[in-house]
Amino acid sequence: MSQTIIFDLPSKGLVYPLDNPLSTGKMELRYGKAADEDILANVSYIKNRTVFYKLIDALKVDKEINLNEMIMPDFNAAVIASRVAMYGDEYEPTIICPECGSKKKMTIDVDMKHFVELDESVLFEKNKNIFEYETKNGTKLKFKLLTVEGDQSLNKFRISSQAAGRTFNEAIQGLRYTIIEVNGKIKPEEIMVYINEMTSVESKAFRKHIMSITPQAKIVSEYMCNNCGYSHQNMEVEIDTNFFWEIQDNI
Ligand SMILES: [Zn+2]
Repeated sequence: MSQTIIFDLPSKGLVYPLDNPLSTGKMELRYGKAADEDILANVSYIKNRTVFYKLIDALKVDKEINLNEMIMPDFNAAVIASRVAMYGDEYEPTIICPECGSKKKMTIDVDMKHFVELDESVLFEKNKNIFEYETKNGTKLKFKLLTVEGDQSLNKFRISSQAAGRTFNEAIQGLRYTIIEVNGKIKPEEIMVYINEMTSVESKAFRKHIMSITPQAKIVSEYMCNNCGYSHQNMEVEIDTNFFWEIQDNI
């Protein structure tokens, strides 16, 4: 038997229907092999930002799990768990100081201690990815937390917008994959009309609310800049493909 890692989902499984294996609140990944490293090196996967999707899809033990339905924090937790399974928990990123821009090589322990779990009381209905929100002017919204599928669509839309030279507002476009009902209306075109007419204040307040209830799978580290003295107790460390390759490069 090959080795596996089992980790807790930040959603605790509460947003998935009971017939979905993710509703157990746990996920199991097998340890990576050489063939899995080929996924991480695939340039086209990196370019279209599907590299982590392909990796987790290859490592998931329960093949019934549909990654598209996962909410992003759970998926990000899977990426972090797979990193630990493949290369251990020591990570040496180069961090750029947000204050002065100077670079610093750090050694970080990759752990899952800083994940923020979903608060069950914010659910509209248990075992469903549905939440409710009422705006200041009384508009009743139903929304879901961004799923892997929504994130992938958002990525495609971003890439095509940029290629066509169109402006792309990440925050606003993200709402297309989040809002599922506006005052009882569920047609995508009706929802889009609402999003386009939302005032900045309204949209900002709504996005802030989403942020406040969204579970988090992040890696944080204490940081202190040697150049300007800027310090942060829990600085977020970005997870990109370097997250996997950093150690490799040093060998
Ligand atoms: Zn600095």
